[in-house]
Amino acid sequence: MPFTSEADTARLSALIDQLTLQEKVQLLTGRDFWTTWPIEKIGLRRLLVSDGPSGVRGEVWDERSPSLNLPSGTALASTWDGEMAARYGAMSAVEARRKGVDVVLGPTINLHRSPLGGRHFEAFSEDPQLTAEMAAAYVAGVQDNGVGATPKHYIANDYETERFTASTEVSDRALRELYLLAFEKAVTESHAWLVMSSYNSINGVTATENELLETPLNSEWGFDGVVVSDWTGVRSTDAARASQDLEMPGPDGFWGAALVAAVEAGEVDVADIDRKVLRILRLAARVGALEGFDAVQAVPVTVEDGIAFAREAATAGSVLLRNENRSLPLAADALSRVAVIGHNALYARTQGGGSATVLPETIITPVDGIRAALPDAEVTYSIGAVVQEGIAELPLATIVNPATGTPGMLVRFLAADGSVLFTEDRLATSLVYFGGDAPVTTADSIELSMTWTPTDTGTVPFGFASVGPGRILVGGVVVHEGEGLSAGGDLGANLMSPPSVVTRIDAVAGEPLDLAVVFDLSSRDDTMAGVFGITVGIEADDSDPEGLLAEAVAAARVADVAIVVVGTNAQVESEGFDRSDLDLPGRQDELVRAVVAANPRTIVVVNSGSPVLLPWRGDVQAILLTYFGGQEYGNALADMLFGQAEPGGRLPTTWPKQLADVPVLDVTPVNGVLRYDEGIHIGYRAWLKAGTEPAYEFGFGLGYTEWELGEPTIAPTVSAGTDGWLSLSVTNTGDRAGKQVVQVYLSRADSAIDRPVRWLAGFAAVSLEAGASALLELGLPARAFANWDEGWQYETGSFAVHVGTSVTNTPRTGTVNLVATT
Ligand code: BGC
Repeated sequence: MPFTSEADTARLSALIDQLTLQEKVQLLTGRDFWTTWPIEKIGLRRLLVSDGPSGVRGEVWDERSPSLNLPSGTALASTWDGEMAARYGAMSAVEARRKGVDVVLGPTINLHRSPLGGRHFEAFSEDPQLTAEMAAAYVAGVQDNGVGATPKHYIANDYETERFTASTEVSDRALRELYLLAFEKAVTESHAWLVMSSYNSINGVTATENELLETPLNSEWGFDGVVVSDWTGVRSTDAARASQDLEMPGPDGFWGAALVAAVEAGEVDVADIDRKVLRILRLAARVGALEGFDAVQAVPVTVEDGIAFAREAATAGSVLLRNENRSLPLAADALSRVAVIGHNALYARTQGGGSATVLPETIITPVDGIRAALPDAEVTYSIGAVVQEGIAELPLATIVNPATGTPGMLVRFLAADGSVLFTEDRLATSLVYFGGDAPVTTADSIELSMTWTPTDTGTVPFGFASVGPGRILVGGVVVHEGEGLSAGGDLGANLMSPPSVVTRIDAVAGEPLDLAVVFDLSSRDDTMAGVFGITVGIEADDSDPEGLLAEAVAAARVADVAIVVVGTNAQVESEGFDRSDLDLPGRQDELVRAVVAANPRTIVVVNSGSPVLLPWRGDVQAILLTYFGGQEYGNALADMLFGQAEPGGRLPTTWPKQLADVPVLDVTPVNGVLRYDEGIHIGYRAWLKAGTEPAYEFGFGLGYTEWELGEPTIAPTVSAGTDGWLSLSVTNTGDRAGKQVVQVYLSRADSAIDRPVRWLAGFAAVSLEAGASALLELGLPARAFANWDEGWQYETGSFAVHVGTSVTNTPRTGTVNLVATT
């Protein structure tokens, strides 16, 4: 149900008639990084847009304006639960409204074409159907609360290498059956108010000028919203002739005066301009930014405790991969000594890096969560192996701002003559400027100073991470000068995993040190000029790896149970670059093996946003995949370990045994072109085709109870115009309440066309008390039987139906006959 009626559209058109060409064109490019232009004379205020998608950052990237940090997209998709996705979207909208944000720049719904994809953690799944269902629910959750949602990035933007320039070579069939399908439902059913076009080209035409913006998005799916470009994605005035509506960011871009001139010269039709303006005004009306139009929702309708939701979402999206002898959940009262091991147990990653980053007020680490859940036990912590690469920020509790005498860091932007242009009292030592008032383009340098009280004695690698030259000062004296050199040129990579410049300084536990970094801003190149990031801090001490390992082993040996948290770091999973392998960084594999040898009762927790190799997976008692679990990560983990909650997730993506087995590894364009030669065979479809066994298959996940699926009753026929369905009873035969995800796949043995070995057609999540049964009814959309060949084609004949709890565990079967429409 589109919000605007015909009458509303007529009223919007009347407003457009009041605008000059200059005013119209100005509206089509942002005013700055995150806002659009207001036009007072028609009662239009600015629109504020903000990243997402795992929280909402707001207008500034600043820890003094914290945001709720929800679990990563991969965790959300692992719930296989549309209701959870809708609540997640709703929570995002509530956050958005708290921060005055009109539009959330998410969800990210590119496909997991390859596990090497750098933004894999942010996206949902390798399966288009699962992605589409979750995306549609997320979008509805956001928009039902009066905020615009922006499924992104349209389209075939499933890798990061050369992301601004690469062209994806992809067949119409793969586009329709996979990549577009992921977006379709969010538009046709949830009526997304925006879609973000991607940076890449598709078959040689850059996304912002591509015909795919019109067909199928507008002409077939009925999109009446705004196509916003990815940041700097508009490359020409020509893009104004395409169905690209809003160029971001502004104020400079390819449109503006050049577009006014193009219209005046008759090269661009004014009707094209009016169409874009209409869409932006319609969006403004929907969010309540245009006088005379009622917002879709005056206030957010969702009332839910965000922190509690973050905790619940983290458990609902965690996947139990192994549980030998039902070693989980652990009986908390039987534990007197627990060894918690691993870098990520103390410095947990609660989100991936990049534009999706939000700054939570607090983070519950695994150590915090486990200690809180076991008040009477002795919980030891050992790092075991270093995972962090480069600088990590200094904890707030250890630093004092020299100007205020309170916890924090003093930041001063200086002119060339040393005069102070701008001052900030910050509560973190990792800073990103992305819009806002700080003079990052005009200042000569930035000075960051603090008094740091070390907790340990020794020489410490202290310094900064950023691209460019800077000086390190101790006690007001320059002790080191150095320059961070960019590894590639990608803005996201430079910002999110910048090079470090360090020098070793002498620290004595408890003795304060006056530290400062002065970074030279004048030499920065001005690509995206207002964007700048710098972290001041220390590198992890990796000078004695054997000692770290030995300490962890000793702790494990005398413990009742060892809990090892393994994971990735910001150099492995961030926007702006792809991964080169799937190994856990550092010596974590060695660590797990050593701990298991010392204590067979070892539980491994995986803190990564996307697949990693777990070569010791058959040797440990249990493996719990928690992804990037959001700010309540540690509490959620404790809930699962000690049985307050069941891990509710099922894999939305296949996890490999080894890299060489992965069917699609190619994420590197050749001569600017990345060919999706695998066509429709990505993810589990490709694994089944190759006949290779993964470590954990698509759809897999254990729980804490047992289940039985009854024989399904299946509607015998479907046709192009008539959906199918099936029903079956599901029983929780175990001794505690739990959740199961029933999955339905199709296959077609005698097909005249190349089809996947099997493919997902429907699914349903169900939660039941011990001993309870439910009758589930699942729709089998006719489209699930169709293939694309210059239009949706319906091959008549018999399709096999496979019902179960993963793509290869499908004990219940049946058939459906596809008949021609009469
Ligand atoms: C990312 C988008 C994001 C935008 C604004 C781009 O680099 O690809 O996902 O919304 O920046 O931060």
